[in-house]
Amino acid sequence: MRAPVKLHLASSNPGKLKEYRVLAETASPSVSVELELLREFTSLPAFDENAPTFAENAAGKALHYSSLREGLVFADDSGLVVPALGGAPGVHSARYAGADATNSQRIEKLLNELRDKPGAERSAHFVCAIALARKARTLAVVTDRVDGEILEAPRGAEGFGYDPVFYFPALKKTFAELLPEEKNQHSHRGKAFRKLLAALSSML
Ligand code: IMP
Repeated sequence: MRAPVKLHLASSNPGKLKEYRVLAETASPSVSVELELLREFTSLPAFDENAPTFAENAAGKALHYSSLREGLVFADDSGLVVPALGGAPGVHSARYAGADATNSQRIEKLLNELRDKPGAERSAHFVCAIALARKARTLAVVTDRVDGEILEAPRGAEGFGYDPVFYFPALKKTFAELLPEEKNQHSHRGKAFRKLLAALSSML
């Protein structure tokens, strides 16, 4: 059997690494991967994620950090898109209510923006883009999404971010009411990461 392929996540967030490790373990074993945070991430020159698309931010980040460190580097960008709000919060999802705001404040702002919008105008999707690069060359950029609706009030205690107001009709629950393994199966991040593994396996 082939040795696991080592992938370095361009992030300082151990929570994100943990989530990707669970995804790697539960994905069909088209390729076996070993995931680590990029070494000394916080002491490297930072990449400004200011592009208007998730794919460009993910690719820019992967390219940037792969020029500073050896090996295969992957980076992601994700967020919530509400077409009735012109795509907001979109690539600004993390900073939607200001850099230091809490998840509840972001949710409050979102619900306020949508307060007069009924039915179809509450459609929303999460998007995740993941890019893989080595030595400042892009090897793959994948994106995926999951479709849902924004509720009028939060429900559930699992997950993070906008999960409590993101209703997933297929399971009749919000993402914050799903077990982590259920969310992984359907989420933008789970689907995008499985695409990345498929792309990686076709390169070996
Ligand atoms: P980033 O991809 O780490 O830049 O995070 C983007 C932001 O989008 C997060 O801080 C959350 O606010 C939001 N977001 C991305 N994915 C999810 C998700 O699965 N659930 C809830 N919120 C999410």
